[in-house]
Amino acid sequence: MKRIIVTGGAGFIGSHLCARLLADRNEILCVDNFFTGRRQNVAPLLGNTGFELMRHDVTFPLYVETDEIYNLACPASPVHYQFDPVQTTKTSVHGAINMLGLAKRTRAKILQASTSEVYGDPAVHPQVESYWGNVNPIGPRACYDEGKRCAETLFFDYFRQHRTRIRVARIFNTYGPRMLPNDGRVVSNFIVQALQGHDITVYGKGDQTRSFCYVDDLVEGLIRLMEAPDAVTGPVNLGNPVESTILELAEKVIALAKSKSKVVYKPLPQDDPTRRRPDISQARETLKWEPKTPLDDGLARTVHYFRTLLAA
Ligand code: NAD
Ligand code: UDP
Repeated sequence: MKRIIVTGGAGFIGSHLCARLLADRNEILCVDNFFTGRRQNVAPLLGNTGFELMRHDVTFPLYVETDEIYNLACPASPVHYQFDPVQTTKTSVHGAINMLGLAKRTRAKILQASTSEVYGDPAVHPQVESYWGNVNPIGPRACYDEGKRCAETLFFDYFRQHRTRIRVARIFNTYGPRMLPNDGRVVSNFIVQALQGHDITVYGKGDQTRSFCYVDDLVEGLIRLMEAPDAVTGPVNLGNPVESTILELAEKVIALAKSKSKVVYKPLPQDDPTRRRPDISQARETLKWEPKTPLDDGLARTVHYFRTLLAA
């Protein structure tokens, strides 16, 4: 039985990761300040003796014993990470320093939830890990993008300087049950709008692309990366290489939700990346991982989740 910390464990991806690691018979310490996470996300796990929930902000040091750390703490939706951009940068940078310090002292393995946002508005398509990215360092997305880039820097400096056992996952757009209905991200927005019969808000012309990965597939990838030999530090892209335009996504959601909603066009937010698709050759080769859930299936499950949630 391993002692595993999941920071951001009460959030969307974190709660799925906690559930899976607990089912695999590990001891989990879920650390969260509940900024975008919710107790309900992990409520079903609370009765399990292997599960502990701690309210804690990762910008402050944490002294516990552990074998592995998954560092997921950080708001991921533009609406939430731009709400208090200074805190967002602190969460990524101070959070990484504190968790790396903990990993160094305990000799634990530590995985960083990095992001495809480190590629910014990418000039290379699809995105390969060797691409250094195209990020606006002073724009409204920078608190997230540059925070995550600095966290990657810290991970690799701890690796070189202290031989810390690091893994860096660059996660591409992930969706599924337990996203917040008011989260602001595209999948939850479109599904909630479709189910409530409201207009579907497409930003810009809707010709920008994203590649959407179902959360169970992503969690499998994170665990495989953590369990890979120490030589596999990453960064490794984890995402679904099937690319869709935002307008195609809107049409799919309307059809799956059997909705009468109409598409309306809203201004494109500043620095919104025009296209995004992961090259996952590295994950395929080193982790033997690739996503299994087709977009239609994952969206249908997510529609079902939100239908039940909204009815309640
Ligand atoms: P989320 O907002 O649902 O989860 C983030 C969690 O971190 C929340 O529970 C929040 O309360 C917690 N948190 C925020 N600041 C904290 C702090 N200072 N101290 C402690 N806890 C804090 O988002 P998510 O989609 O589950 O994302 C999880 C991680 O994966 C994030 O690091 C995000 O950057 C990364 N990621 C997600 C996606 C995606 O598409 N979902 C894509 C790329 C990267
Ligand atoms: N988007 C949209 N309507 C919405 C929310 C988002 O058209 O109601 C667009 C957004 O402009 C972006 C894409 O969908 O081009 C994905 O946005 P999200 O915030 O989910 O993720 P990110 O931009 O961080 O990849």
